[in-house]
Amino acid sequence: MRVPTVVVGGSVAGVRTVQALRARGYEEDIVLVDQEPGPPYDKPALSKEILTGAAAEPPALAELGDLAVDHRPGLAATGLDLAARRLVTGSGSIPFGRLVIATGSRPRRLPALEGRAGVHYLRTRADAASLRAEFTRRPRVVVVGGGFIGGEVASSARALGLDVTIVEAAPRLLTRLMPLEVSDRVARLHRDHGVRVLCGRSVTGCFGRDRVETVELGDGTRLDADVVVAGIGTTPATGWLSGSGLVLDDGVRCRPDLSADGADGVWAIGDCARWFDVASSRPVRLEHWTAAREQAAFVAGAFTGDGATTAFTTTGYVWSDQHGVRIQHVGRCDAATTTSSSPAGDGRGLLFVHHDGDEPVGATAFDAPRDLLAFRRRLTSATAPITERTRG
Ligand SMILES: Cc1cc2nc3c(=O)[nH]c(=O)nc-3n(C[C@H](O)[C@H](O)[C@H](O)COP(=O)(O)OP(=O)(O)OC[C@H]3O[C@@H](n4cnc5c(N)ncnc54)[C@H](O)[C@@H]3O)c2cc1C
Repeated sequence: MRVPTVVVGGSVAGVRTVQALRARGYEEDIVLVDQEPGPPYDKPALSKEILTGAAAEPPALAELGDLAVDHRPGLAATGLDLAARRLVTGSGSIPFGRLVIATGSRPRRLPALEGRAGVHYLRTRADAASLRAEFTRRPRVVVVGGGFIGGEVASSARALGLDVTIVEAAPRLLTRLMPLEVSDRVARLHRDHGVRVLCGRSVTGCFGRDRVETVELGDGTRLDADVVVAGIGTTPATGWLSGSGLVLDDGVRCRPDLSADGADGVWAIGDCARWFDVASSRPVRLEHWTAAREQAAFVAGAFTGDGATTAFTTTGYVWSDQHGVRIQHVGRCDAATTTSSSPAGDGRGLLFVHHDGDEPVGATAFDAPRDLLAFRRRLTSATAPITERTRG
């Protein structure tokens, strides 16, 4: 019997790996193990069209029937036996020749919100369906966390005319991701669309009889809430790998070529991978759709021998849609960079450019896709360092 290539995780990183392998003529057997039931779907719509009701289902990621892949939905990997080269699952183990780990990440939970109905986290199709059902009852919504996910949930809730407050513990929105100029712009966008934005306040508790009725903040403020959505970051879904011999350090620690430290023939990609980024000279983990897709293509190229094999690099492109505005970012912005802004080429949007000294090293666009694309192309050719970033 031929020993298959096994891909664990059937979202964008895993599915794009299978697609890229087949597109490059890879003829080995492939098993795709995913704990989610049903066909693979794409996540970005979950906080946007699914919540507003503009779409009933998230888009399918692929037609797996065309890919000659042994898809095993609803099956969770529970361990990895590197010596025996077997993936352990809830119903037996699967031998592998090569293994691609693409198990993504899951929302970080806020202890102050535990134990109450009406508190939501958003990661899966089921999460989005249950939040959408709540939104149809016209609740007052408190969003905890002012990152991309929180901003998108607030935007979708306002599109439905709901009463929405964002509570952010840091002094401003998107602190971990963006400079002051950009976070101010995002805060203004929310306020212009009727979202109450409270920064520098932490949630200390939530109260209610059967379900949440009030959220309490550290300064004693109480906010009425029928629904609370927490978007306070994620942790890599790598618990199933503990004790396997792989190095787990806020993600599966990988070499520059995305192969896992401590193993041969094992790679990790997407939200669960922390690889050594040679352009930035440090380990980086991203939680962006485009990075997951690029890493899938890189690994497929390594397997088939017709891609770059030494070091994965990326411009770290990410987008977010909030209140009808497309926000896009590439490259680096951090404590060492300064930011300037200029109107976009078409006169309607705005482009922020982040400089290290005189050198432009990153950009953030508000409704300026062409300018951003031009900037991204320049960065691609330079393989620039990136800033580690999560979606919040
Ligand atoms: C609501 C939402 C909106 C987003 N919007 C944007 C956006 O607008 N722009 C952008 O750039 N990015 C966006 N992202 C981020 C982007 O979707 C993620 O970066 C991307 O999904 C990461 O893909 P992944 O395949 O690495 O991981 P995931 O999408 O997390 O998928 C991991 C898969 O592995 C499975 N799995 C986990 N553990 C196991 C196990 N033990 N055994 C078997 N299977 C397992 C999971 O069930 C899941 O199917 C969004 C994310 C979310 C949640």
